[in-house]
Amino acid sequence: LPTAAPGVTPARVLTIAGSDSGGGAGIQADMRTFALLGLHACVAVTAVTVQNSLGVQGFQEIEPETVAAQMHSVVADIGVGAAKTGMLASAPIIEAVAGACIDLGIGRDSGVPLVVDPVCASMHGDPLLATEALDTLRSKLIPLATVVTPNLDEVRLITAIDVVDATSQRAAAHALHDLGVQWALVKGGHLRSSEQSPDLLFDGDEFHEFVHPRIATAHDHGAGDTLAAAIASALAHGYSVPDAVSFAKRWVTRGLESAYPLGAGHGPVNPLW
Ligand code: PLP
Repeated sequence: LPTAAPGVTPARVLTIAGSDSGGGAGIQADMRTFALLGLHACVAVTAVTVQNSLGVQGFQEIEPETVAAQMHSVVADIGVGAAKTGMLASAPIIEAVAGACIDLGIGRDSGVPLVVDPVCASMHGDPLLATEALDTLRSKLIPLATVVTPNLDEVRLITAIDVVDATSQRAAAHALHDLGVQWALVKGGHLRSSEQSPDLLFDGDEFHEFVHPRIATAHDHGAGDTLAAAIASALAHGYSVPDAVSFAKRWVTRGLESAYPLGAGHGPVNPLW
């Protein structure tokens, strides 16, 4: 990706996501990737999690109107070339974010691409999205997205498809695309039967497959956030969606290779290029 030049305003990107007090995932992971890739990051905070390397002990949501107001404020003044959602916590926050995206021209049919990482739970299984919010996610936000990036647990919650092999992965990509997203990325990193990490990208017409070796590490906290942030970064620089995903996949693979231990639990991916 192009690097930022001193004194020159870089490309801007907006993350709409939750804070991780442990500094591994969420906004903190997004901002690490954005900064390393030379982008200026604007932030609409959706929730503050109480979290360390062992898990999420609790969180407090931000008022939906305040989430939307943060989006309006930064887009009106600073402008953004792409946006990304992470933890959205509740149906009212999803509705506020979707409404603001429509008002601000963010989304698949507008000038500003939108990456939706449909965060439902932490890697420890701690819920980060209310179960009753899944309908709102499906009906209000996914149809606005340029790319949606679920892992296999999220695919099961959103489409009720259990991905176990290449055939069910394709079926899941179709089901996600049927919800109205422009490109569905079904991440295969949790496909434990495979020695590879096969991600499948589908726009209703063509399949693109991105296969990387599975990196054996316990330190993969924030991997999903980092992938979606790297996709948004590349889109802000004008990459096509397949090129952005290809770049982001290599970015996360490198991040997993140089991940470090932290605390007594799972350390974060460490995307050094
Ligand atoms: N905390 C926040 C605020 C997040 O946004 C996310 C993931 O998107 C997580 C925790 C979970 O990250 P992981 O699944 O890597 O534990």
